[in-house]
Amino acid sequence: MTMPPSATGRLVIVSGPSGAGKTTVLRRVFEAATAPLLPSVSATTRPPRPGEIDGVDYHFLSEQEFNARCARGEFLESFEVFARGYWYGTLKTEVASGLGAGKWVVLEIDVHGAAAVMEQYPSAISIFVQPSSIEELKRRLRGRGTETEEAIRRRLAQANEELRFAHRYRHQVINDDMDHAVQEICDILNREAEADRDAR
Ligand code: 5GP
Repeated sequence: MTMPPSATGRLVIVSGPSGAGKTTVLRRVFEAATAPLLPSVSATTRPPRPGEIDGVDYHFLSEQEFNARCARGEFLESFEVFARGYWYGTLKTEVASGLGAGKWVVLEIDVHGAAAVMEQYPSAISIFVQPSSIEELKRRLRGRGTETEEAIRRRLAQANEELRFAHRYRHQVINDDMDHAVQEICDILNREAEADRDAR
């Protein structure tokens, strides 16, 4: 007996400089999208910011635990995101369980992690969220009020580096208007879902 093809999970990779507003845009996309989106909870050695919850925002790990899990091959990708800073990584279990359940697993990761995942999952939907300008990025990072000047300086250097990777993504979205950026990402996801249906 031939079974009808079931809905398959997809990987959605979202990157963009810290301060480009991608976390806020994504939060709204999660509310508005029709695709069954599921956020992948990354692991990090960074300490939690006020209000962040372990297992929800990140799996907050000690460096020792992070290294041990890395050595056991538990990460799909892991990178030290800011020079002399903290480690971040995508756990294989987060991705496998979501994809197995037919979800669209969303990875909000840096450009190096994204490159590693794109190599392993060439059909991943990749989206780069651009700030409208570097000046706007500076304003947002300062306005956040959670970072020291040194951390902001490092994030800006990182942002300039990340912008050089934008062309590697299948889709680029400029976040100059929040509503527009949210709509654009929802449209991208809808088009991908249509293409999936046509392929079946
Ligand atoms: P934050 O410390 O502000 O939460 O995140 C800093 C940066 O780490 C962001 O650019 C975010 O995309 C990246 N990041 C978060 N999780 C992961 C991950 O699992 N892997 C990689 N490579 N980068 C991540």
